[in-house]
Amino acid sequence: MKLSANLQESFNDQINAELASAYLYLSMAAYFEDENLPGFAHWMRMQNEEETAHAMRFFDYVHDRGGRATLKGIGEPPSDFRNPLDVMERTLEHERKVTVLINRMYQLAIEESDYAAQVMLHDLINEQVEEEKVAEEIVDHLRIIEGDGTGLLQIDARLGERTAGDGQI
Ligand code: MG
Repeated sequence: MKLSANLQESFNDQINAELASAYLYLSMAAYFEDENLPGFAHWMRMQNEEETAHAMRFFDYVHDRGGRATLKGIGEPPSDFRNPLDVMERTLEHERKVTVLINRMYQLAIEESDYAAQVMLHDLINEQVEEEKVAEEIVDHLRIIEGDGTGLLQIDARLGERTAGDGQI
């Protein structure tokens, strides 16, 4: 069954949203590189790769379903951040927005009785639970240490250990 025009538009919007996420995380990686926090920078680079992979899942899916991916413009991401907590709070806020977008796509797939699209979205819905959980944990840890340098370096070391597929797709 071919993807409906509405769903195709929604999937195309999501390709753009995922690539915009990737771009945002790359900008955050640049901030951490500049701050000499290699663990945070590594974590953000992995976020960048993951979001690009999500975009490609939607890209491929549109074509698998007889549609056509069309690419839209991506705005300039923020580059001024106050501190690591500011970056991670923005990450959490961003992931919550992405969850809303994916939930809306799922709602549309339900309204259009597109069962295949619903199943395709299951992975991404699960992924958002993980994204929000992980970002929230880092935010909470940064609040616990309240800018303590030793604590910050400990968190940096832990984030540096993240490997591909570390509980996330
Ligand atoms: Mg994503």
